[in-house]
Amino acid sequence: MTVDLEEWYHPEYVRDKTSSLKEERIQQSLKITLSLLNEYNLNATFFVVGKLVERRPEIIEKIRENNHEIAFHGYYHKPLWSLEASVLRSEIEKFNSLIGEKCRGFRAPSFSLNDRTKWALKTLESCGFEYDSSLFPAKTPLYGVWDAPTTPYKPSQSNIVEEDENAKLWEFPLLVYRLKGVSLPVAGGFYLRFFPASLVARAIKKLNRQGFPAVIFFHNWELDPETPRLRLGLYKYFVTYHKLRETPKKLKHLLSKFEFISVRDYIENYT
Ligand SMILES: [Zn+2]
Repeated sequence: MTVDLEEWYHPEYVRDKTSSLKEERIQQSLKITLSLLNEYNLNATFFVVGKLVERRPEIIEKIRENNHEIAFHGYYHKPLWSLEASVLRSEIEKFNSLIGEKCRGFRAPSFSLNDRTKWALKTLESCGFEYDSSLFPAKTPLYGVWDAPTTPYKPSQSNIVEEDENAKLWEFPLLVYRLKGVSLPVAGGFYLRFFPASLVARAIKKLNRQGFPAVIFFHNWELDPETPRLRLGLYKYFVTYHKLRETPKKLKHLLSKFEFISVRDYIENYT
């Protein structure tokens, strides 16, 4: 189970629309998130946006107190396609010094890891990361590598969809459900809200039966009933806010049906 910890104004279709006056919701939405996870007594991985920690260092303590894992979700939530290796490296160094340890896991904002941004694998490996969880083995208007493996593997730095046994960095692809040759990206966000919970459960079961974990994610702002809603175009509004109020119900359904752990605990116990 993974949480992308960010503000309501960080998502791709929202970030350019916000003015300089942005209401801060992180404290409330983090509290709701932690209490949901506590209710089901599980440890999750939190992919955290660095800037939030710079402003509110207590976020880290709150996550650690509950025994969840801290991982990195970019310093300013900029997708990899707008960065370069040296910038990513300095973002990582800044984040590591904020949290006081070497971070082990990364999730690219907007799942922006693909063939064009595979340079990031080398940067992550050289900064001591053990795993990445940014690949969506599906095709969506914004992201996705449709022919990537759907189970954990060590990607080659020259061909992201190929396994390289000598590589150090693990990739934990996000959950997809293959239906009639099409991959549905059911792991979280809009797609988790859009598809019925039974379909997501079927996708998890299918992977578990083969002996593999399913990587699920949600955003803290998806649980916050007071997340501000901006006027966006029809499509962008739909993708960002569709069935937002149903997120807690959907997650509770999955949390009661399956056992979830953090990526750190998975690596320590199963790889
Ligand atoms: Zn994000």
